[in-house]
Amino acid sequence: MDGDVSYRDRIGTMTSEGKRAWVYPKKPEGRFYNYRTWLTYGLLAFLLFSPFIYVNGNQFLLFNFWEREFVIFGFPFWPQDFYLGVTAMIIGVLFITLFTAAFGRIFCGWICPQTIFMEMVFRKIEYWIEGDRGAQMRLDKQDWTSEKIRKKGFKWFLFFIISFIIANVFLAYLISSEKLLKYIQIGPFENLSTFVALIIFTGVFYFIFAWFREQVCTIACPYGRLQSVMLDRKSIVVAYNHKRGEREKGRSRFKKNEDRAELGKGDCIDCFQCVNVCPTGIDIRNGTQLECINCTACIDACDSIMEKVDLPKGLIGFYSEENIEKEERFTITPRMKGFAAILLVSVGLLSGMLIMRTDVEANILRLPGQLYEQKADNMISNVYTFKLINKTSGPFEDVRFKLLSHKGSIESVTHGSLVIPGKGLAEGTLFIELNSALLNGEKEKIEIGVYSGEKLIETTRTNFMGPRTFR
Ligand code: SF4
Ligand code: SF4
Repeated sequence: MDGDVSYRDRIGTMTSEGKRAWVYPKKPEGRFYNYRTWLTYGLLAFLLFSPFIYVNGNQFLLFNFWEREFVIFGFPFWPQDFYLGVTAMIIGVLFITLFTAAFGRIFCGWICPQTIFMEMVFRKIEYWIEGDRGAQMRLDKQDWTSEKIRKKGFKWFLFFIISFIIANVFLAYLISSEKLLKYIQIGPFENLSTFVALIIFTGVFYFIFAWFREQVCTIACPYGRLQSVMLDRKSIVVAYNHKRGEREKGRSRFKKNEDRAELGKGDCIDCFQCVNVCPTGIDIRNGTQLECINCTACIDACDSIMEKVDLPKGLIGFYSEENIEKEERFTITPRMKGFAAILLVSVGLLSGMLIMRTDVEANILRLPGQLYEQKADNMISNVYTFKLINKTSGPFEDVRFKLLSHKGSIESVTHGSLVIPGKGLAEGTLFIELNSALLNGEKEKIEIGVYSGEKLIETTRTNFMGPRTFR
């Protein structure tokens, strides 16, 4: 970014004329960057391969909104499981809120796919082709020589190819990898609408990673905006220890053999390395800012400077405002323990709901408009419609119904043995007969078991109507 930018006047990625100040972050190096790189390998593998991994015949992750088919970690979810989705979303919001309140925007710098692709894929290609910060700035300033055309052309070509690959993977999450591979085999023009969607996605990814870049995090992402209301003085964020960095006389350039503490000078030697390395173009020394994605690149940069000038590391580090004011080190506070406990309970609740979720959903309802039929020997008959939804990918064969709560007969009207196909449903009609002596009123609750062979796969309840005189 250009040197005249002052955070207090305007945002870091804008010039005084209101134009975009292109950010040329210096290539980060150091302990945290190494941790991030290793984490990124794992996350990239997860993001790229998840739609191509199958568990029990189900895609590992699938979000097919058009056909309302969702698979999370190999478990298929149906619109009937909506309550689980809502619970998971509430827990997700709770998690993000509590996590951000405790640890700031660390998700953005370490886990968010935008940062992973931008900083660990596209940015690395840029360093490889155009060089580090200084070389990139020089290249952009120079005329369109053959060297510049070659470098820029090659970089944009690679960016396009990677955007195209990401768009394909994105599509595999939406329509399933099986369909995607089938469409690739039969050719793009056989399914033009999907191909157009693929090109649009490619264009969007290319636009984001080649041009829009850090602006996703600084001006577009709603989570970044929310940060300002979630953080407080106890939140642990990437922060500059201004007490140590400034002392009484403020920051100043490094001079050999000078006792800075004695002279009242801060430990910050005003080298601007933390600013040069920042992918969102801010100066962390101005305090916690909305644009900071907690990527820790400035910690690495400052630590390496501190090492060189023989001062203790950690001038920039993970601190809360209170840590800095009270000159304490990072500790796990009761507040964090409380947040962790709330999260643990919510995640436990969701896990319990997931474990208790059955593979089959049964709906048995009395046929609308029908009362009951009085038969010989005091028998009463009711007619029902049933709908059985199979949430697994394999079929359930030889499906039968049994009355669990009462003695009586139950019979389904089907042609041959009843089968619920994988990821499908079976519908039909049922007749239930009970002896009127067993009824306690005109509306009796009965429980029905659904079996596949001898295995109970679901239980459900419904009403049985009888004559009013039996109350
Ligand atoms: S890298 Fe450290 S010493 Fe250099 S300007 Fe930033 S805070 Fe100061
Ligand atoms: S201020 Fe530091 S942690 Fe925040 S985005 Fe910039 S380099 Fe990353």
